[in-house]
Amino acid sequence: MSATVIDGKAFALRIREKVAAHVARLAADHGITPGLAVVLVGQDPASEVYVRNKGKQTLEVGMASFEHKLPADISERDLLALIARLNADPAVHGVLVQLPLPAQLNSDLVINAIDPAKDVDGFHISNVGLLGTGQKSMVPCTPLGCLMMLRHHLGNLSGLNAVVVGRSNIVGKPMAQLLLGESCTVTIAHSRTRDLAAVCRGADILVAAVGRPEMITAEHVRPGATIIDVGINRITRNGKTTLVGDVDFASAAAVAGAITPVPGGVGPMTIACLLANTVTACCRANRLPEPDGLTV
Ligand code: NDP
Repeated sequence: MSATVIDGKAFALRIREKVAAHVARLAADHGITPGLAVVLVGQDPASEVYVRNKGKQTLEVGMASFEHKLPADISERDLLALIARLNADPAVHGVLVQLPLPAQLNSDLVINAIDPAKDVDGFHISNVGLLGTGQKSMVPCTPLGCLMMLRHHLGNLSGLNAVVVGRSNIVGKPMAQLLLGESCTVTIAHSRTRDLAAVCRGADILVAAVGRPEMITAEHVRPGATIIDVGINRITRNGKTTLVGDVDFASAAAVAGAITPVPGGVGPMTIACLLANTVTACCRANRLPEPDGLTV
């Protein structure tokens, strides 16, 4: 292997330390504690793990955590009523509704009911529009974490060729917007892209957000490229369940200049950026200066 491994776990720890320091200052200087409300509908095991980790890390940085666990058959009306209460609650600065939602609930309607200023996931249509037009917004956590790692590793990204594989609203599209904002030349690839390997080989920065285990291999990688692997896939190998990314790590790392591992790459950064967005939302709500280096 020749590539540098970008340590998302260590980077996320530094972000959480910065968040904790700012939270302590808000408490000491202004008597304010940022609060994050997480809403979980139903009992999806993966979502329960995410929500538990979010709550734990929220408390660890000194913020207030409000967990709302709702039955899978909750009506849209009741869920919207809870969101309205959280929007109006001055102790809550960030509201996150864990996705996916059960089929009877309209996710777009629910997400767009969150006050955009408290939309720490950055999925509200107002924040999507603000990001798309280069204005100050709440930036979705996963792409924000990816961008922070890229900036840290590469410095100025201007003029670099970036290929984002995946065009979802939560990862692919906002990632591409952020890279465009850094003056990269951005290509978005997806399931209909012709000759994906050739497209990817044009990339100085290759972001894989596909949801297909280890589909990106050495043949997709330009020598020296920086690879960000967003994928989280559970597979069974040699009778054991294991976590792998969308990138075949061993094969790609032999050609790349740098690469994020799975686990320990993008995943830890996502929660760290959620905490960062919550402290940013709290500062904006109280018209206080925002912490340095926690948003774009
Ligand atoms: P989606 O399923 O919403 O989107 C997947 C995208 O990949 C689609 O745009 C799809 O194209 C594209 N795609 C699928 N197959 C191919 C293919 N063969 N070639 C090229 N493109 C393809 O997934 P998400 O964006 O929500 O998530 C992507 C991955 O990232 C998942 O593994 C998910 O678990 C992970 N993830 C990780 C997070 C973290 O914190 N690390 C957070 C969020 C997600 P098309 O649009 O044409 O169908």
